[in-house]
Amino acid sequence: MKAMQLTAPRKPLALADLPVPRPGRGELLIKVRACGVCRTDLHVVDGELTGGKLPIVPGHEIVGTVVENGVGAARYTAGARVGVPWLGYTCGKCVYCASGRENLCDAARFTGYQIDGGYAEYVVADERYCFALPEAYDDAGAAPLLCAGLIGYRSLVMAGVGERLGIYGFGAAAHIVAQVARYQGRRVFAFTRPGDVAAQRFAGELGASWTGDSTMAPPEALDAAIIFAPAGPLVAAALRAVAKGGVVVCAGIHMSDIPAFPYDILWGERAIRSVANLTRRDGEEFLALAPKVPVRTTTETFALGEANEALARLREGRVTGAAVLLPGAG
Ligand SMILES: [Zn+2]
Ligand SMILES: [Zn+2]
Repeated sequence: MKAMQLTAPRKPLALADLPVPRPGRGELLIKVRACGVCRTDLHVVDGELTGGKLPIVPGHEIVGTVVENGVGAARYTAGARVGVPWLGYTCGKCVYCASGRENLCDAARFTGYQIDGGYAEYVVADERYCFALPEAYDDAGAAPLLCAGLIGYRSLVMAGVGERLGIYGFGAAAHIVAQVARYQGRRVFAFTRPGDVAAQRFAGELGASWTGDSTMAPPEALDAAIIFAPAGPLVAAALRAVAKGGVVVCAGIHMSDIPAFPYDILWGERAIRSVANLTRRDGEEFLALAPKVPVRTTTETFALGEANEALARLREGRVTGAAVLLPGAG
């Protein structure tokens, strides 16, 4: 099969000819129809996230069709459409797994990081972590739901129920979260890179009440802010933007260093927290909610061999919505 493989950090992915993987016990062999390109993939490729396997096939927003069941795999039949997310394995025994926090499992393994992912024509996945997908979405449209959507949703829950929600960084996750937040009756304040008028316009089209750049103060204090952009200085900016009791949620897996800031911007019971990974429950809740909103995903599609181009555009902030690879498209 064709796959785009990372052999060493900070090198372009290489188009490789690999054997089609074999499904082990409890696993599915899946023909990949679409795979979203996530900022986490960029952190792996750019060497900002270490500790994964090398070489690795990235990609953890996988939509595909089951072609073969490994021994004992019985949740899905051949031909079923499934989604494969970032969470690829948990131990089921540690204190986190035992307390409904499998996203924090001590022995978790992640798709496209420790397990070969979806930048390929085929992938193998543990069926217990796969999701059935809502029929309202085509393959490319469903892919961004699987990380941008799921982790965006978890971040929104962590942000609490406040009505005035700030979003820093208006990419794949933000474009989904903004729609869910509007559906919940919240107002969205969208902050983009300075000068990114296109992203501000896009946020406005998705219902943001106010758009501006990240150096600006919002017109009123916010109840919560979610930071999707991987830039540490935004933490202080967001703390200044939230009202007393407000929470700042850092939604990415990697962020540049957070500069020192005066205690008074944290005072007043403001809080900073990160969001890590997803639980299967997050996935089930969000995938049931998305078609009710209904969340509409905006995607830019690329052939498998164009993965480096897709990553470069994401790095430069030149993707509107989500980038999605179509491994079946040559
Ligand atoms: Zn565990
Ligand atoms: Zn992701």
